[in-house]
Amino acid sequence: MTKINILSQETIDKIAAGEVVERPASVVKELVENAIDANATAITIEIKDGGIEYIRITDNGTGIDKSQIKTAFLRHTTSKINDSHDLFSINSLGFRGEALSSISAVSKVELLTKTREALLGARYTIEGGIEKSLDDIGCPDGTTFIIRQLFYNTPARKKFLKKDATEASYVFDVVEHLALSHSDISFRFIANGKERLMTSGNGVLLDNIYQIYGRQIATNILDINYSCDFMSINGYVGKSVIARGNRSFEQFFVNGRYIKSDRLSRACEEGYYGFLMGHQYPFILLNIRFTDGIVDVNVHPTKQEVRFDNEDIVISTLTKIINERLTRREDILEAVVDEVDKQSDNILISNISEKTPEPFEINKLNRIKSEIVAQIHKDTPYEKKYDRSVVMSDENISTSDVINHVLTKESEIVYEQTSFLTEEARKKHKVIGQVFDTYWIIEHDDAMYIIDQHAAHEKILFERTMKRIKNNEMTTQGICPPIVISLSPTDLNVYHEYKNIFTDFGYEIEDFGGNELIIKGIPGNMLNLDPENLFHEIVDDCSKYKASSSYDAIVEKVASMSCKAAVKGNNRLSLGEINEIIDELLTLENPYHCPHGRPTMISFSEYELGKKFKRII
Ligand code: ADP
Ligand code: MG
Repeated sequence: MTKINILSQETIDKIAAGEVVERPASVVKELVENAIDANATAITIEIKDGGIEYIRITDNGTGIDKSQIKTAFLRHTTSKINDSHDLFSINSLGFRGEALSSISAVSKVELLTKTREALLGARYTIEGGIEKSLDDIGCPDGTTFIIRQLFYNTPARKKFLKKDATEASYVFDVVEHLALSHSDISFRFIANGKERLMTSGNGVLLDNIYQIYGRQIATNILDINYSCDFMSINGYVGKSVIARGNRSFEQFFVNGRYIKSDRLSRACEEGYYGFLMGHQYPFILLNIRFTDGIVDVNVHPTKQEVRFDNEDIVISTLTKIINERLTRREDILEAVVDEVDKQSDNILISNISEKTPEPFEINKLNRIKSEIVAQIHKDTPYEKKYDRSVVMSDENISTSDVINHVLTKESEIVYEQTSFLTEEARKKHKVIGQVFDTYWIIEHDDAMYIIDQHAAHEKILFERTMKRIKNNEMTTQGICPPIVISLSPTDLNVYHEYKNIFTDFGYEIEDFGGNELIIKGIPGNMLNLDPENLFHEIVDDCSKYKASSSYDAIVEKVASMSCKAAVKGNNRLSLGEINEIIDELLTLENPYHCPHGRPTMISFSEYELGKKFKRII
């Protein structure tokens, strides 16, 4: 007879712990979420040796009353919900009551906590789920958790951990996500005694992005602000210059919770169509908030997946608002003076006092420098929260800060004050001519623009064709005699599955029995491509893009058709022809990138040229 055993509580807890506590990063996530739920405004996370040996989380939140401590460490104990009715209106990050019991089952835990009302705090220790002590102790308001020797009693688990440095980087990721989703809380992260991150907690998301990702990202993102009756979407999307080769820069927070979602990612990427090259992924940081009752966060123990109602509407809205935002303002890639290196930094600054540059430049630099100082002073309330003796003074602002700021200001002038591609501006364009039989140089206002004739023409053909398809304006041209084609069974299936694409393009096709089709009409505007070849290409594309939507296949096809049909580089064009291209560019929705995301034009401001030639120092 096989004997069926009843597992001990200790074994049950260890098994359960496996779901919630996978590695040090999961411990940090759970404990910081608890601190956030306890209304902390400042949270310090300290780890040693990747968090495997030591994790400390200190918060200034509500604290836990001594009488509640033991209960908090039992399984399924929580102060955040009462019953299942509350599951659909969760405003806290936690609610499953599993973290403390799971963590304490697989490590040695020390807890120091004090509520505001209590005179004394409490110190509690529990190791491998077994209580060791509970004493009164003097400590500040709030809670400190110290987790030592993670997985000391589950060696099999411990073996799966990676190198300390890798585990530390996972912890860092978690802290970053938590900081980005809670810009009103000041986060401090220390690894092996070194401060790695400090956010001000001033509630300004852009400041957090700056503190976490640095200047290059913070100065190349566009804000998103959208709301309707059941949701709001706020945050930032990156310009194409800061795109990545993977999705690590795509971050979504739903009701304050960092989540992973392929669907949200794809919706955003679709919004970038025409702005990014293939295999490039955008910087996305969006906080999506739904009203109560719409989100179900109880999908997985780690709570990184959610389900929500109206998913299709959410998806299409995301694509639309991102695309609109990217198209909203001129996005001409600027050829920034790249030699702004340390050396020229020094020359620039020393020259300010020694040589005498044009007074305009000095005034401008000084004005900008004081602007930065004022900004930094304004944004450092955390100096009061912590006794960190950082005093910001003019000396703390590096020269490259100032130069970068000047350059960004300059580019903003180009972006916002002059619009290169408007009817008004067009009258003032001075077409200088063609170079290398490939690029066109145009002077306008205080900048020189260089247009890539192939990319520009390709974009025109692409938008024109896409518009026709969208508006059902593709015409059909009857052919006599019709073309009969034979397909393999697989291709025939693909054809039947994506039939509507062929109709959208203007094909008129009927079954001809067996594995043959008869093409009676071809697209009216073929961009000089062979109709039979095009048919086969579309079939190939459709099978290649099977996983994604038929829309993707159409876009991809039109893009490659446009690329083939567009005027190539190394091709002498007349002034009349280039004028025609520029005229047509004016009418496009997004004239600044070709369908593959490459820029169609770049600009050099007079200021940058001046800098290159050291006229402006
Ligand atoms: P959950 O977060 O799902 O409620 P946990 O096991 O993470 O479950 O925590 C159990 C309870 O312990 C919480 O509901 C909360 O009341 C209390 N608690 C945990 N951490 C803190 C903290 N840092 N500050 C105040 N209370 C805390
Ligand atoms: Mg919790």
